Amino acid sequence: MNFRCPDCNHLVSHIPPTHKCPDCGHFSHDWLIDDWESFAAIKRRHIHYNLIIMGLVLINILAAILYQSTNPFQWLINLIFLPAFISWILCRKQLSQKAHYKGHKGNIVFPWFAGFGGL
Ligand SMILES: [Zn+2]
Repeated sequence: MNFRCPDCNHLVSHIPPTHKCPDCGHFSHDWLIDDWESFAAIKRRHIHYNLIIMGLVLINILAAILYQSTNPFQWLINLIFLPAFISWILCRKQLSQKAHYKGHKGNIVFPWFAGFGGL
């Protein structure tokens, strides 16, 4: 697995123990992981999660309509469709742009609903 300096795009096979880029001397805690396959696998997994969420929301909407639900929570929960949909679009876009891939941060393994900012 390779790592990429977030400053000058220099590639190394191991993050230097000092976290200092051997090329530009920049110190960073945000070295990027340069591995398209693991990036794509994570994105495909998130697409899968998002499809499940959107499917559950659709079922929930149908049930709410069918049983004429007056439970506000049952209606409100449908709002999670929006971030799931946005994330689904973004993941698909990123997967289709392999040429633009410049490495990724470790925290992208967390999907948006885990709350770690990995949209
Ligand atoms: Zn550098």
